[in-house]
Amino acid sequence: MRTLVVEDDPAIAADLCHALEKAGFRTEACADGEEAWFLGDTEDFDLVVLDLGLPQLDGLTVLKRWRANERTLPVLILTARGAWTERVEGIEAGADDYLPKPFRMEELVARARALVRRAAGHGASQQVHGRLRLDTNLMTVTVDGVPREVTSLEYRLLAYLMLHRDRVVPAAELLEHLYGDSDGRQGNALEALLSRLRRKLGPGIVATRRGFGYGLGPPADPA
Ligand code: CA
Repeated sequence: MRTLVVEDDPAIAADLCHALEKAGFRTEACADGEEAWFLGDTEDFDLVVLDLGLPQLDGLTVLKRWRANERTLPVLILTARGAWTERVEGIEAGADDYLPKPFRMEELVARARALVRRAAGHGASQQVHGRLRLDTNLMTVTVDGVPREVTSLEYRLLAYLMLHRDRVVPAAELLEHLYGDSDGRQGNALEALLSRLRRKLGPGIVATRRGFGYGLGPPADPA
């Protein structure tokens, strides 16, 4: 397991490398963001442990650049304790997991192992139905191989329909999933969301089964 440890505090970096090596990971350490970005962009690692506060280039920017460049390597970020905004930003930037500082090395090693296992089983990160393809790691959408820009809410709707592509999903179920709305008050919002999505993806991707709900594929009923 080739692991890149990005941490500018030399004592923490040494502890991280020591604990990971003992657990069977092969580690390479790097103390600044610029170098980390370059290494992750040009070489293959099975895992990156990434501190966010770094000299030259901060960890979030490093991560965003990798993801923008379709580098899908698993990334575990180290955040400041209690800094939930860092956590949210990190996950949004494409982190696979996070650990607040200070942490126990045992926990770090357990998380690192879980991430590598998950990544190894990730043949299924590409989900395809007809002309539609979702990348569940990058949360991106293509139709006929052409990337389509979607919002996170639109992506969630598509991912849900993809997950349940063998059946028709009732509107009430989608409302509950997207808005936590169990009594249909967001019905108009759902309609608006669906028509925006249809404009972006073109016809025939999201189908309406009138009176039943929604699904992927050619519409049974011209919508
Ligand atoms: Ca730091």
